[in-house]
Amino acid sequence: MKYVDEFRDPAKAQALAREIRDLVAGMGRARRRPLQIMEVCGGHTHTIFRYGIQQLLPDEVEFVHGPGCPVCVLPMGRVDDCVALAERPEVIFTTFGDAMRVPGSRKSLLKAKADGADVRMVYSPIDALALARNHPDREVIFFGLGFETTMPSTAMTVLRARAEGVRNFSLFCNHITIIPTIKAILDSPDLQIDGFLGPGHVSMVIGTQPYEFIARHYRKPITVAGFEPLDVLQSMWMVLRQIAQGRCEVENQYGRIVPAAGNAQALAAIQEVFELREFFEWRGLGSIDFSGVRMREAFSAFDAERKFTVPDVKIADPKACQCGEVLKGVIKPHQCKVFGTACTPESPLGSLMVSSEGACAAYYHYCRIDTSRLGRHGARAAGQTATRDAVANERAAAGAGHE
Ligand code: SF4
Repeated sequence: MKYVDEFRDPAKAQALAREIRDLVAGMGRARRRPLQIMEVCGGHTHTIFRYGIQQLLPDEVEFVHGPGCPVCVLPMGRVDDCVALAERPEVIFTTFGDAMRVPGSRKSLLKAKADGADVRMVYSPIDALALARNHPDREVIFFGLGFETTMPSTAMTVLRARAEGVRNFSLFCNHITIIPTIKAILDSPDLQIDGFLGPGHVSMVIGTQPYEFIARHYRKPITVAGFEPLDVLQSMWMVLRQIAQGRCEVENQYGRIVPAAGNAQALAAIQEVFELREFFEWRGLGSIDFSGVRMREAFSAFDAERKFTVPDVKIADPKACQCGEVLKGVIKPHQCKVFGTACTPESPLGSLMVSSEGACAAYYHYCRIDTSRLGRHGARAAGQTATRDAVANERAAAGAGHE
C-alpha cells in the first residue's frame, strides 16, 4: 500500500470488520460488559468518528477516548499564563492555531488578540524563530505544546536559536510526555480498559519499547496504530486477537512509520534541551508526576518562564465541565451536562470541544445525538450535523468512507 486511498478502501474495511465480528463472536462475550479499547491519541479519535468506525464494530467492543490531544488537556491556569505573557507590550506571542480558542479563566488567546495583544499563529517553531530574527526590538515567545511528537521540532529550534545567537526568542514550554499519562490511566480505579491502540505519531519518536511495561506489568495488550481507517480497524483486530489468544504484547501495526527504537536524532535533541518536571497539571486529570518537561538550566536564556513573570496559578475547571470524566473514559462526551448547549465548538466551555482531535468536538461534528435533551442552540446545531451524520453513517455501512 502506497497511497492514501488504499488505506480507505471500503471493501477491505468491510472484510476487516467481518474478521473483527468473527473474532469477537468466538470469544462468547455476548452477556458480559463490552470490551473497552482505549485509543490514546486524539488523531485516532478523529478518524474513528470521521469514518464511522465504531458503527462497523460489534456491540461487544467499544472505544474509550483517551487523553492524547495536547490542546484538550491544557489546564486553565496555563492558558492564563499564555494570556499574561501575550499581553506584555514587548511580546509577540506565537502559537499553533488550535490553541487559540482554548478558554482560560479570563479569556482565550484569541480574545487577547482581539483586545490588542500581539498573538500570531505559526505553523512551526521555526516560523517563530524567523519572526524573532525579523523583529530584534521585540521579544518573541513560542508556545511549545504537545507530546513527544512536537517536542523534537521545538528542541531543534531552541538549539538553532542558541547557535545563531538569537536572544529575543524564548519558549513557553508546555510539552507533555505520554508514558506517565498512560500509567496514570492504568492506575485509575474508575477505568476498566482491556487494551490500547497506541499513539502512532508519538511512537515515531519514542519507538515501541517504552510501552513494554503496559503488557508486562499491567497485562494489557497494546497495538501502535496508524491513522487511516484501515489502520485503525487492523489495529483493533490485532488487539482483539491478542485478547482472544490470552496474550499481552506490544504490537506495531504502523511499522511503515514507527521504528521499534524510535528516532535517535529526535530523542537526542529532546534529551539535550528538556528535563522532566516533578509534576505537571492536566485539565480534568489533576497533577501527574513526571508527565511534563521543562527546559534545562543551560537553556534558561530561552525559557520564557525564567525570562518573564507568569502568574502560575491553578484554576479549577468550571463546575459544569466534565472534561475530566470524558478524558478518563468514565462518560461519553454526549453524557456531559453541557454538551451541545452551553458547550459547542463555536463557544467551547471545555477544551475537548476546541480541537478537532477533541472527543467532544468529534462527537459534535460526526455523531447522531439525541436532540430532545439539548436546548434550542444545541438542537439547531445537532440538526445541522444530522445530514453529515447520515452521509457518514451511509459510508460506514458501505465500509470506511472516502473523504
Ligand atoms: S461538552 Fe464541553 S464541558 Fe462537557 S466534557 Fe465536553 S468539552 Fe468538557
